[in-house]
Amino acid sequence: MLKVQSLETFYGSSQALFKVDFEVGQAEAVTLLGRNGMGKTTIINSIMGIVPPANGKISFAGHDITGMASYKTANLGIGLVPEGRHIFPNLTVRENLVATASNHLKAKNPWQLDSVFSMFPELAQRCNSMGNLLSGGEQQMLAIGRALMTNPKLLILDEATEGLAPIIRRKIWSALAEIRKSGLSVLVVDKNVADLVKLADRHVIIEKGKVVWQGSSNELAASKHVQHSYLGV
Ligand code: ATP
Repeated sequence: MLKVQSLETFYGSSQALFKVDFEVGQAEAVTLLGRNGMGKTTIINSIMGIVPPANGKISFAGHDITGMASYKTANLGIGLVPEGRHIFPNLTVRENLVATASNHLKAKNPWQLDSVFSMFPELAQRCNSMGNLLSGGEQQMLAIGRALMTNPKLLILDEATEGLAPIIRRKIWSALAEIRKSGLSVLVVDKNVADLVKLADRHVIIEKGKVVWQGSSNELAASKHVQHSYLGV
């Protein structure tokens, strides 16, 4: 579904990524893990064309999307839940959800308002509230719902649970487990290793812009050394 090969990205003269390689398969959930400032968001921004890579190749669903503008990447079926949520503050919950909704890739059971509201009943209750009046947890649910309403093939979540209370985090993780059942591929950046080991199939650890370890949930759970060395767990 997604293949990242020898990806290298710079900010000016400063190199942030060094020959990054990983893949996300059909219906697979993969995480990008690593301490702060290691390059995870830069990888997401490179995939989305927000920070175009200098070298390497990014393929998605058979298309070369290297350096492609983010609206085109989104049209091909990548839904991004960005760090910081970026919901529209002056639109209502309902308007946020429908503003960018589409099913141009012709999903058989497309996400619609009803299905998003049934996944996140909190949003149904607040459907006429303006985006800027929502709690952090509600904003995160809205950001996920908004991405789902574009009916993507791959959902990317950057720090989806950062700063949220444990009870809200659990809601987000159980929603993601549900979302996975629909066959969507998922790429998650987060710091909650214990939760991610339960949710995802495989993990890619980034350290100083390089992939330093890749493996399954079982392998990560079993390797205290890897968790300690690269994640500080
Ligand atoms: P965090 O979990 O804190 O978001 P991260 O793993 O996502 O960290 P990045 O945000 O990708 O890391 O940052 C990787 C490196 O690139 C860091 O050294 C950071 O300082 C640098 N960097 C990130 N954004 C920019 C920018 N806009 N301009 C210059 N350098 C940047």
